[in-house]
Amino acid sequence: MKKIILSLIVALGLVGCVPSAQLTDKPTVVVSFYILEEFTKRIVGDSVTIINLMPNGGDAHDFELSVTDRKTIEDADHVLILGNDFEHWVDDIYTDPLNTERVLVVGQNVETISDPLVNQVDPHLWLSLRNAITLMETIKDYFSDAYPALADQFETNFNAAKAAFEALDQEYVSALSQRVRDEFVTNHAAFGYLAKDYGLVMIPIMGLEPDAEPDAQTLAIMIDTVKVYGIPYILYEDVTDSAVAEVIAEATGAKTGILQPIESLTAQQVADGEDYLSIMRQNLEWLTKAVTE
Ligand SMILES: [Zn+2]
Repeated sequence: MKKIILSLIVALGLVGCVPSAQLTDKPTVVVSFYILEEFTKRIVGDSVTIINLMPNGGDAHDFELSVTDRKTIEDADHVLILGNDFEHWVDDIYTDPLNTERVLVVGQNVETISDPLVNQVDPHLWLSLRNAITLMETIKDYFSDAYPALADQFETNFNAAKAAFEALDQEYVSALSQRVRDEFVTNHAAFGYLAKDYGLVMIPIMGLEPDAEPDAQTLAIMIDTVKVYGIPYILYEDVTDSAVAEVIAEATGAKTGILQPIESLTAQQVADGEDYLSIMRQNLEWLTKAVTE
């Protein structure tokens, strides 16, 4: 690990001014996907250089390490992954003796749920705002241990992020309390943790990984289900094909809407300044329509 030189800039005599510390030799933090980039940035700010392995608009479920990615991981001071089998490439870095001590499994403190049909742990922990706070706390604790001189800053940043996430959680509670049904239909089974937080029931068209196609029988069952529950919107993620959602909508008279799993941002979303909270707010708008209309 690089030698870290700490320089303290202490504002003497200024009442109410918090002394701030900086790492003059910025550590490099490699993260496996967008969420860990944003959450780390919310906690550590510009104290570190963050490298996100996954390109804009990339598919988190299909991602594989390139030779360049391996070199990036080898050169990093810290490597952050979500865990729970989300990163299929993770065995590669665990077999690399250089890396194991520098790996933080950010999802380690979240209680997981499994897809009962395939007996597979659902990796989409971050789509619960409450889990997201736990993920940020795990990041905060890790970097506070690594760089104690900055621990107060990290704590302050964490508390600010936590307050913002809790406020949106309350908006979810309030908006969804107006619902006329618990069930919502989505193509990618990524919203189980979110559903659990608010007592909703996710009916997924496909499984935990979004690239599977439903067979004719599954499609027929979905169409019946949408009719039985009077589901007004078929929600699909905007980064994948909408064809199946449109077929179901056509057959049932439902409309389509968007529910985003936030596994990566598109270049357009980055340019528009979108982030986790802004997209989770858009998700709430669609979800509210889907359970109140
Ligand atoms: Zn996913």
